[in-house]
Amino acid sequence: MLSARIPILLTACGLILGPARAQDTLPAEQIHVGDATVEVTFAPGKVDLPMPSIRTWITNAADAVAEYFGKFPVPHARILLRPAEGRSGVFNGTTWGNMRSSGPFTRISLGQLTDQQDLDTDWMMTHEMVHMAFPNVTGDDREHHWIEEGMATYIEPIARAQIGQLKVDKVWGDMARYMPQGLPRDGDQGLDHTHTWGRTYWGGALFWLLADVQIRERTNNRKGLQDAMRGILEAGGSIEQDWPIERILETGDKATGSTVLMDLYNQMKATAVETDLGDLWRRLGVELNGGVVKYNDRAPLAKVRKAITVPWKDSGRKKVATAAARHPRG
Ligand SMILES: [Zn+2]
Repeated sequence: MLSARIPILLTACGLILGPARAQDTLPAEQIHVGDATVEVTFAPGKVDLPMPSIRTWITNAADAVAEYFGKFPVPHARILLRPAEGRSGVFNGTTWGNMRSSGPFTRISLGQLTDQQDLDTDWMMTHEMVHMAFPNVTGDDREHHWIEEGMATYIEPIARAQIGQLKVDKVWGDMARYMPQGLPRDGDQGLDHTHTWGRTYWGGALFWLLADVQIRERTNNRKGLQDAMRGILEAGGSIEQDWPIERILETGDKATGSTVLMDLYNQMKATAVETDLGDLWRRLGVELNGGVVKYNDRAPLAKVRKAITVPWKDSGRKKVATAAARHPRG
């Protein structure tokens, strides 16, 4: 945070360099999530919403991520909010790994005219924080980008639903609506080699949905992707670490006692695998009619569908992650 003396210096610089004055910059905020600290700073500019609303927005996102992964993924994260004059909404979020050894860094734009409803329906802050709970994949950045964007796309709505910030209908409605964008098109060479927007975000999300369903099928619904993700984080696999993709997936598989992640990766990395989405929704008991979601609780995987969005504490699993959280890393 700025000391009392620095703003005077900045004001002096502002007189020489241009219109950005220190008094236009909102004060920094610190948000605590369990043992973790999220440091929020602002670029120069104004936002109409009061600070408590902004704090609650960021805190809710952090709580959703902590609920899904068992704890906030890193001890210290930084968020730079960039007010955008005359605009509304949240946009242009980007998260970097271990910037200057001080933990991950998220930069995100917040329109000056953003209202409370925009914040209540925002997904982007949670999406960026989900990135913090997955290792930086080593090797060619482009090749494995889909696995990082896919996990954030798939997990973000589920994490928000698990803390009651998003309706379960919205989770399944959006998946049924948008997942077709992730299917391979002509000339597709598998997820590692096809870098279109659709395959990166929704093709990646489809990989993780299939993984979640298959883990639950193979473990009689006792474990799911959430166990794999908590296992990766418990093994130290946050965005602060660089891991090869195989190590990430094998660590996740170990947590569920299966080989689902590695098997699925080997199938989908270099081959355009067709997925019958209609059949998948039918087995999960999800029907989308004219934009309205309906469920069939007699569908063969109806229990799997319900388990995916259930909060960890209500899932019947042991509270291992809570116990582990009492012994944070160094
Ligand atoms: Zn992302």
